[in-house]
Amino acid sequence: MIHDILPHKLNNEFKICDPKPTDYLIRYAGGKTLLKANNAATSGTTGVAYSIPRVGELLALEGKTLADFEGHYLFSIDDTGFFLDDSAAKTSSEAIPAGYEYMGSRTFRSMDPVERLGGATATHLAHWESLNRFCGRCGREMTRGEKERSIVCPKCGNVVYPRISPVVIVAVRNGDKLLMAHNIDNPNPRLFLISGFVEIGESLEQAVHREVLEEAGLRVKNVRYFGSQPWPFSDSLIAGFTAELDGDDTIHMQKEELSEAMWVRREDIPEYETDVSISCCLIENFRRGFTIKES
Ligand SMILES: [Zn+2]
Repeated sequence: MIHDILPHKLNNEFKICDPKPTDYLIRYAGGKTLLKANNAATSGTTGVAYSIPRVGELLALEGKTLADFEGHYLFSIDDTGFFLDDSAAKTSSEAIPAGYEYMGSRTFRSMDPVERLGGATATHLAHWESLNRFCGRCGREMTRGEKERSIVCPKCGNVVYPRISPVVIVAVRNGDKLLMAHNIDNPNPRLFLISGFVEIGESLEQAVHREVLEEAGLRVKNVRYFGSQPWPFSDSLIAGFTAELDGDDTIHMQKEELSEAMWVRREDIPEYETDVSISCCLIENFRRGFTIKES
């Protein structure tokens, strides 16, 4: 899954430090990140492959030095830092270097494991900072915390921490069939699983029962925790579960949320790649006969 980057290691403790030329630079504006468009011929794929620029690389293109750098440290993977520069978001006249483009966070999904986790997590933080420029209590411009990862109001003391919204996802089994669905907002046309944000006042397990009932009109039993993963693309932490159908198997699909929902026999499920999402791990877990259990 996205957080499985061994032998690399995410170092997410808070600190304030200066960049090295080889550190990654997340330049964030308008909900997108400036990425380097690489030659498709060298990437071995059709279309354009992207990578995250390095601090020294972009500064050199702009005729600047490290002393001119306006960004701040977020975290590192191994010894390489990820630095955020959102100063372009405050100006409308930024010149974009040739060969670079502002891209949405889904672009990170096709990168190698380090840039995928690092880039998506950095834009998760960039999104959070962009939503908290001003204090929600008194309106004063906010500043970054100096002792922990936070945004602080210098006037009233309001402290805002990174937003991580819990989500549940569940593989509902009915004998040798799996409940699969397609969310209307997902640009990927493949079938996945029932999922949704946890609501106030409910446990993860209660959220599983509610989401399956709301989206598919089904009741479930034997809800079991499977594993979890960060999902920076929606500022989330996803908790995965397995469950069994309880009673009537007639699906009543919620058309506001789903475009498809159906029972799919095990032998009719195609193989899913398990390197990014827990959804695919849950599907593969069922397809292979529950022989894999995430630790
Ligand atoms: Zn305030």
